[in-house]
Amino acid sequence: MLIAHLNRQLLELDAAALRRRLRIQTTPCQPQLQLQGSAAPLLAFCSNDYLGLANHPALAQALADGARRWGVGSGASHLVSGHTQAHAALEERLAAWQAAHIPGARALLFGSGYAANLALLTALGDASSTLFCDQLNHASLIDGARLSKAAVQRYPHADLAALAQQLQSCSTPLKLIVTDAVFSMDGDLADLPALLQLAEQHDAWLIVDDAHGFGVLGARGHGSLEHFGLRSERLIYMGTLGKAAGAYGAFVAAHPSIVEWLLQRGRTYIYTTALPPALAHALQSSLDLIEGSDGAVRRAHLEALIGRWRAGVQALLEPMERGQGGAPTRLHLLESRTPIQPLIVGDNARALSLDAALQARGLRVPAIRPPSVPEGSARLRLTFSASHTQAELDRLLAALAASLQELPS
Ligand SMILES: *Cc1c(COP(=O)(O)O)cnc(C)c1O
Repeated sequence: MLIAHLNRQLLELDAAALRRRLRIQTTPCQPQLQLQGSAAPLLAFCSNDYLGLANHPALAQALADGARRWGVGSGASHLVSGHTQAHAALEERLAAWQAAHIPGARALLFGSGYAANLALLTALGDASSTLFCDQLNHASLIDGARLSKAAVQRYPHADLAALAQQLQSCSTPLKLIVTDAVFSMDGDLADLPALLQLAEQHDAWLIVDDAHGFGVLGARGHGSLEHFGLRSERLIYMGTLGKAAGAYGAFVAAHPSIVEWLLQRGRTYIYTTALPPALAHALQSSLDLIEGSDGAVRRAHLEALIGRWRAGVQALLEPMERGQGGAPTRLHLLESRTPIQPLIVGDNARALSLDAALQARGLRVPAIRPPSVPEGSARLRLTFSASHTQAELDRLLAALAASLQELPS
């Protein structure tokens, strides 16, 4: 009964071309991605390993050292017996990074960004509160809002006037604005200074999910708060350690009373095994790399790649626009200066054929379709990493030019 029911639904996914499949890689995280059973490697533009640290020898060595010192598992949740010196030291350093922006900040480690967001929104969003959520927020924030007892208001993406109106007419004692710092499908930055100003005006708090900003933004890679030079007790920061930091896990940095409350009431903190201490140990090396000259060089290289990509694509698209007699082609880049670079195609089938044409040329550039993105905005979502070379970027641009030629108009 259940199996038949599920199989029917799976067939429907097949029919709608929405069935997703796992691919098995035989290479670690790197631009040259080898899939099991295929001859040549693919040049991939889809990881969140923005600084190229996931497979960095210094980090692998630090993990091995950490395993020799601490073994593998933590053996328990933090509050039982899983909390080691390695975790505490990492929390202290992460807190110090954000303390320049959140006075007196304390940090708390989580198993993942997903878990951290659930803890944040369910522990803080009680029945006396309202969560104000950008409509393009990440799924983990959406789920956290759903699970919380708070009232939830969604405002149109980046529409600060709409948000101001919602805040104005809200009467709950506690108000929490919730936003991605870098939006994961569009790559644009939230206007955090303006959001913070609204929070101050309306006696609200600002929860910033910096999954894509931590390590990438700011002169020292401390993230979006450093990038914007913000400072306020009203900021509640969530950073992840599985993207630019190249490892796994996440943390919240905030006023010590907020963090203490998460420790008391955050169910995804309390009822789960602590991160392996060896990983906490290895993350110190990741933070060294991010903050040091190596990180600065990687961020500068990344920025150069993004600039070269944007100029290269504009040069490809301009003649196409002229070829259409000035009619605006639907193909366009979004205004993003982050490593998330969406090329909007519009039509689902066209996005899929571009994805396939690029794959035929040895490139992996995923098409993203509704419901992950709004109807009519199917896209190629590229992400760049400091581990990409300029030559690889030029190969991408050449393959894209050839693939666009094949695209039925
Ligand atoms: C990836 C991501 C998360 C989840 O982080 P994980 O550590 O991968 O669980 C949360 N928010 C945003 C915006 C993300 O992109």
